[in-house]
Amino acid sequence: MKQSDVRTTDAELSQFRVKGEIPVPALINWLTLAAVPLIFFYTWRSFQQDNATTGTILAAFSILLGINALVHLAVGHKTLQRRSFIILITALFSYMAIRALENGSAIIWLFAYPPIIFYISEARIGIIACVGGWIATLLLFSPLGEYLFETPYSGQFRLSMIIVLAFEMVTCYILDQSRRRSKLGLIKLAAEFEYAAKHDALTGLANRREALEQMDSEHERYARNGRGFSILLMDIDLFKHINDTYGHQVGDEIIMLVAKTLARQSRKVDTTARWGGEEFLVLLPETSIEEAMATAERIRQAVAAQSAEVDRQQVSTSISIGVAHIHGAESIDRLLQRADEALYQAKAEGRNRTCREAPANTV
Ligand code: GH3
Ligand code: MG
Ligand code: MG
Repeated sequence: MKQSDVRTTDAELSQFRVKGEIPVPALINWLTLAAVPLIFFYTWRSFQQDNATTGTILAAFSILLGINALVHLAVGHKTLQRRSFIILITALFSYMAIRALENGSAIIWLFAYPPIIFYISEARIGIIACVGGWIATLLLFSPLGEYLFETPYSGQFRLSMIIVLAFEMVTCYILDQSRRRSKLGLIKLAAEFEYAAKHDALTGLANRREALEQMDSEHERYARNGRGFSILLMDIDLFKHINDTYGHQVGDEIIMLVAKTLARQSRKVDTTARWGGEEFLVLLPETSIEEAMATAERIRQAVAAQSAEVDRQQVSTSISIGVAHIHGAESIDRLLQRADEALYQAKAEGRNRTCREAPANTV
């Protein structure tokens, strides 16, 4: 993962859950659990008041909400559950407002709508639903709405309702934006921590810990499917001399130059790591010793062909490489030891060369 690979879109944001945050599907199910008995309570009251039509319609809403939750529990389709829930509560709140249930007091349930919508859907959907809901309420309170639905709301109530509802919707939007921004900040921070924990700060290559983890995973894969892997252990030649002659700054530049060359010469599936100060390791999954030797030679030649400019002077460098391929049931430590021995041999033979592991029968 690159440092810049931090998700930002609304849909992707919902994939991440900050500790303590209730997942949307669970919240919808809990809301349903609370709503079903409540609606049944109003259903019962409607029948008490000899309003069988309203009672039946409310009961139908309650049953549909229940079915939606049960379908989600059985099938696990999150989008279907969310969309159906939004449609059902929008229809329910509209019905309660239009029919002016409970002597017109049921319309105040509309205040529950904005926070729910903003929490369970993307910001865009929340805005559309709220603006739509507010305009619909305005229409209901207009002379046309009065003519169509004959609602009993007083003039003062309409004015207060429309102003307070707008105020609440804007407040919910601001709080929701702030919640989303905080969440995004946490996600970015977590991604940066994860990146820093796995990468070397100077070169951006994987660090030693990450390389060891990747080798462990590759080792497990090898144990399962028998597809062998190879490693290249490399060390910059006479690096102390570069530091002593040109200074640490130039030394760092050379390290970065070698790292860039390594990354360029490796495949996507390979892991290139800074193993230590001026030592690097490349993990080559599903690669034979011959292929690994060819890759190592290519890398060595590429490094030798490059140079960094210091005070209009070209500073070049070279690396020595030890190559080893996993054998039988040997451990990662043993493999690293054999690669190190090969590297030592490359140094002993005069540097700027690639040496392969000792033959298997001598291991
Ligand atoms: P050889 O060919 O035998 O490897 O010789 P060498 O001089 O490279 O050997 P040695 O391992 O003794 O020296 C490595 C030097 O690398 C020593 C250390 O000061 C330097 N070094 C380690 N990490 C860094 C770093 O991050 N930046 C810089 N500039 N130098 C570093
Ligand atoms: Mg060294
Ligand atoms: Mg060295």
